[in-house]
Amino acid sequence: MSLCPGQLSQQAREALKDELISNNSDLILRLPKVELHVHIEGTLTPELRWKLAQRHGVPPRFGGTEADFESVQDLRKAHDNVVSSAQIRTPEQARTLVTFSQAYYSGFEYLKTKNDFFDLAMNYFQLAATMNVRYCEPFFDAQGHTSRGVAWEDMMEGFREAQERASGELNVHSSWIMCILRDQSPESAMDHYKEALRYKDMIIGIGLDSNELNRPPNLFEEVYTLARKDGFKITAHCDVGVEDTHEHIRQVASTIAGTGLDRLDHGLHVADERRLLELVAGRSVPMTICPWAYLRRETYDSIAERLRLLFDAGIKMCISSDSPVYMDESWVTHNLLLAQKMGGFTDAEMVQIARSAVDMSWAKPAVKKAIDLEIEAMYEMA
Ligand SMILES: [Zn+2]
Repeated sequence: MSLCPGQLSQQAREALKDELISNNSDLILRLPKVELHVHIEGTLTPELRWKLAQRHGVPPRFGGTEADFESVQDLRKAHDNVVSSAQIRTPEQARTLVTFSQAYYSGFEYLKTKNDFFDLAMNYFQLAATMNVRYCEPFFDAQGHTSRGVAWEDMMEGFREAQERASGELNVHSSWIMCILRDQSPESAMDHYKEALRYKDMIIGIGLDSNELNRPPNLFEEVYTLARKDGFKITAHCDVGVEDTHEHIRQVASTIAGTGLDRLDHGLHVADERRLLELVAGRSVPMTICPWAYLRRETYDSIAERLRLLFDAGIKMCISSDSPVYMDESWVTHNLLLAQKMGGFTDAEMVQIARSAVDMSWAKPAVKKAIDLEIEAMYEMA
């Protein structure tokens, strides 16, 4: 498959992951973490997909293919070959390769009952605990589930049960962010927003994800304005590779819901324009950055350069994993290690980034304080 010069192949990304794990100081592994950009549906491991398929008596499928998998190992192998839609150049590739969107949305059909949503969330929380994640704000795509007939109660009560258990048993605390699917209508967004009000005790924010093409954030001005008035935090994805990305970032940083949103998800291309960089830094809009998510679309050097520019401009950022299962199985720890290498950050700068992540999170003060104290104790030892 043709790649842009400087863009890493799947084998090169695997080698990079191995190198990051074997060469790192253990500071990043031990660091108490906050993860603010992780799609719960993007944490559906091949093992869990397999289990849920068996639970529902359907064959495990992956992407748009009709391939039959004889074992979990086969299914896992298919996950290694997920490509970005930007990498599809020929009809043959379109027929034979699985894109991120196909892989991601094909997992939804296995999520039907309260038990399924509990298992999905609990599986992530358990993995998060092994990486010392102390607090997270997972995204969920309600429209992708209600459109298949899933009951709100099943989805949310499954999430709630896992959330409470993770908090009590794993010391992993969390709040949910409901993402609006931007390729669906503003009316659908409003309908789902109104339903979400019933779960305001567990949903801290309203976000925006899915395909950005021709779907600027200001299409959802009404729901964002209402959400802010009702006391939710508000955020939006501004992704990469879309012609109007810079305009979308400008809307998020300065105009929607009066003064702009509370956070920007992705948006590495802020670094392309001095004016945007000054806007985001000047308004202190924090950003969630998932460096691994860019590897299949951009060159290593261009990601690294932008990451450093954002940091040097004083923008607060939380390094996160996005949809780790479909991104080379790269979880938050891998993303932190990659960020450190890309930005050339010292251990002290990584601790500064970790502190920023706590600060920019929407956790309760007591949770923030506990993580801050833990980071402080670690830094004294480092
Ligand atoms: Zn995302």
